[in-house]
Amino acid sequence: MAKVALVTGGSRGIGAAISKALQAAGYTVAANYAGNDDAARAFTDETGIKTYKWSVADYDACTAGIAQVEEELGPIAVLVNNAGITRDAMFHKMTPAQWKEVIDTNLTGVFNMTHPVWSGMRDRKFGRIVNISSINGQKGQAGQANYSAAKAGDLGFTKALAQEGARAGITVNAICPGYIGTEMVRAIDEKVLNERIIPQIPVGRLGEPEEIARCVVFLASEDAGFITGSTITANGGQFFV
Ligand code: NDP
Repeated sequence: MAKVALVTGGSRGIGAAISKALQAAGYTVAANYAGNDDAARAFTDETGIKTYKWSVADYDACTAGIAQVEEELGPIAVLVNNAGITRDAMFHKMTPAQWKEVIDTNLTGVFNMTHPVWSGMRDRKFGRIVNISSINGQKGQAGQANYSAAKAGDLGFTKALAQEGARAGITVNAICPGYIGTEMVRAIDEKVLNERIIPQIPVGRLGEPEEIARCVVFLASEDAGFITGSTITANGGQFFV
């Protein structure tokens, strides 16, 4: 029977590419999303992948949503924590609400999703958790103290949990994408993108969502069982760790 993979934020952007790549690799995929029903409907029409609406920032909703996915599709073998938001502002202008929203979604959301799948993965002695962090969690970014803090937190979470899961057959890894051509990045002022950001990417272009999705498929595979607590940096040569 096909393994079940759950992708948060899985119906748009990088998440949609991840959902499709996992489906192509033979998984039964569930794509979670937050509120964009039109995008979710179009995604299901295109791919046949079932979508599930809840906020990763809400622990009880995650628990209920995961239970529903497992009832309908089977036990979750692969969890991809991809959902993320930005609420950018220079720190002196950043509001407590902007801080909280980003931490709640991008960091606490990863806890909220991973905690309810963890016991089942331990019982079954198999699991793959892949956390989508960011280059800006590695290097920090002006105007993104909230986002950089959350994404750096995801890397610490990944390393700690990898140690806890190792003997139970669960790997926990992270991917740090650089700038990828999704709506999140297209929302950046075009002049800033073309004159300041792209010239700093050694390969001279934005990344494609599919280039991140292929990293996820590799980390999710049985072949990647010796890789845990690791970070794949995929950023066009922009920053090395
Ligand atoms: P998009 O804005 O294109 O898509 C974000 C997805 O996350 C959407 O599906 C959205 O749902 C979902 N989402 C947002 N908030 C929640 C929530 N509270 N609960 C559930 N789902 C939620 O983002 P990208 O595809 O660009 O980014 C995907 C991930 O990659 C993010 O974690 C981002 O931080 C990270 N990343 C992106 C980079 C880039 O250059 N694009 C670079 C580095 C990291 P809905 O469709 O309902 O709105």
